[in-house]
Amino acid sequence: MSNSNKFSSLDLQPSLLSNLLEIGYEEMTLVQAETLPQMIGGSDVLARAKTGSGKTAAFGLGLLNKLDATSFRTQALVLCPTRELADQVAKEIRRLARGILNIKILTLCGGVPLRPQLASLQHSPHIIVGTPGRVLKHLAKETVKLKDLETLVLDEADRMLDMGFIRDIKKVLKLLPKKRQNLLSVSYTHQT
Ligand code: AMP
Repeated sequence: MSNSNKFSSLDLQPSLLSNLLEIGYEEMTLVQAETLPQMIGGSDVLARAKTGSGKTAAFGLGLLNKLDATSFRTQALVLCPTRELADQVAKEIRRLARGILNIKILTLCGGVPLRPQLASLQHSPHIIVGTPGRVLKHLAKETVKLKDLETLVLDEADRMLDMGFIRDIKKVLKLLPKKRQNLLSVSYTHQT
């Protein structure tokens, strides 16, 4: 395996690198090797990758690497097509973020009561993972503030479009700072 496939070849924070060793990720998957250098460099990236390819860790590491956990403002938003995917994504980002002290990652999805989410939002999370409709609802109520957002991830963006989320996503986009990094994943298995 060439050196370029090792996470240590990337300009990642030491806390992320040591945690990757601890959780047993030794080498990058193909999608990680192809996208992480650009993500870390600050470029917008579109990754075409199916579930199981390691795409979550790719964008997860990209957004975590530039996150300032000492600043309690929402710096990254990950939109997912379903609650199940949002839960999986949040779980994976939490795993990757184990080495970062005091990091708060919140899941905001529809189909569950709003009240507990409002309580969790009393202190701004660093990262929000959610479905477009529920995130928009919080933005409208101003219970979520994204003026300091630095990274937007649209996970399985093609699926979100298929599921009719385009209007909600457009409304969310209007409320984000123009200067931000955009990371998109699209799946291979495009359902029509
Ligand atoms: P995903 O495609 O994001 O759903 O990831 C699929 C699975 O691969 C998840 O269980 C991850 O924990 C795991 N994974 C991601 N990146 C790596 C890696 N570099 N080495 C080993 N496992 C990984």
